Amino acid sequence: MSSIDPKTARFETRAIHAGQSPNPENGALMTPVYFNSTFAQPAPGEPLLGYEYSRTTNPTRTALEENLASLEGADWGLCFASGMAAIDTLMSLANPGDHIVAGIDLYGGTYRLFTKFFQRYGVKFTFVDTTDLAATEAALNEAGSTLKYLYIETPSNPMLGITDIEACARLAHAAGTHLVVDNTFASPFLQSPLAMGADLVLHSCTKYLAGHSDAVAGAIVGNDPALREEIAFYQNTCGGQLGPMSAFLVMRGTKTLALRMERHSENAMAIAKFLESRDEVDKVIYPGLESHPAHALATKQMRSYGGMISFELKSGVPGGKAFSMATQVFTLAESLGGVESLVEVPPIMTHASIPAAERQAAGMADGLVRLSVGVEHIDDLLADVERGLIAAAAAK
Ligand SMILES: *Cc1c(COP(=O)(O)O)cnc(C)c1O
Repeated sequence: MSSIDPKTARFETRAIHAGQSPNPENGALMTPVYFNSTFAQPAPGEPLLGYEYSRTTNPTRTALEENLASLEGADWGLCFASGMAAIDTLMSLANPGDHIVAGIDLYGGTYRLFTKFFQRYGVKFTFVDTTDLAATEAALNEAGSTLKYLYIETPSNPMLGITDIEACARLAHAAGTHLVVDNTFASPFLQSPLAMGADLVLHSCTKYLAGHSDAVAGAIVGNDPALREEIAFYQNTCGGQLGPMSAFLVMRGTKTLALRMERHSENAMAIAKFLESRDEVDKVIYPGLESHPAHALATKQMRSYGGMISFELKSGVPGGKAFSMATQVFTLAESLGGVESLVEVPPIMTHASIPAAERQAAGMADGLVRLSVGVEHIDDLLADVERGLIAAAAAK
């Protein structure tokens, strides 16, 4: 019902218009928040426009689903109460004995869901460094015929590893399985996994898509109608769907996604370069730096390098604590992707649930600090990072 072509209009135009058009009855420009559990039917079993009950479908959610599908170049999208509800839905399609090959450097909550719940239900997991294609291929071959998904995050969290999406799609398809990409860190503006061969794309819309730290939401998008049916059936059965108010907030966020991602990327590049020049810092991990081991691959598969930076302080955990408490513009908080800059210390915050030995195997140093660079003025951000570094050095 949108007046633009959701497949061919440019990204910035789709972000503002796809799935949304003025109400033909009253001209309202914005999609209303449809606070409805149920919908009147003109005759039994003949709902108007298909809407019966909001666990199944709701017009505000439909508008966001069409918008996100358009942004990812997908045929369909489904929205969930959170990123984790979306991931839980995908995992719930697995049977006991099925095997999932997943990246080693995953969002902490995803790792927790896999190992504390689905492993208990008899789903098998192999965690592998998916930036290493030979190791990924070996893990897929070993899993054999019970393979359910190859599940990757790129850039990964918090080590910002870059996995080759096109190559992984080839490997997954050769092994007879689906490639799932958690595209939260890049956002659809920076990276289009479906165009590179992925089968399903996941989002925590809580992050860049909503973009203002005011909503929790998740999404799955894809092209295969059979997968859509399976996922929607589970969503309607279990009820992990997104409410209309949050759907509205995410939709407001996506309108400015392109503008925000450009500024996030620009600010992050300047901060990464500044950190690299400083003595207090051992190592800066940012895909936009030439020192990043997969800089060339990031340049090939991403439009720009995003707003996330991880770096290692020489002064370890005490340094990380001091840095995160000294900054005044960067707020000490979990999460990421909002307009405001955030700082967190993964080993004692977001990734504390991962055993120390596994954190070290994934290359996560004790002095690791993660920045979600916002869209404030770069001069204020640079001065704030310097303030943090001085405090970190004093904590040594
Ligand atoms: C935040 C996040 C999730 C989980 O999403 P929620 O909306 O918090 O449930 C999943 N994957 C990645 C990469 C994330 O950053």
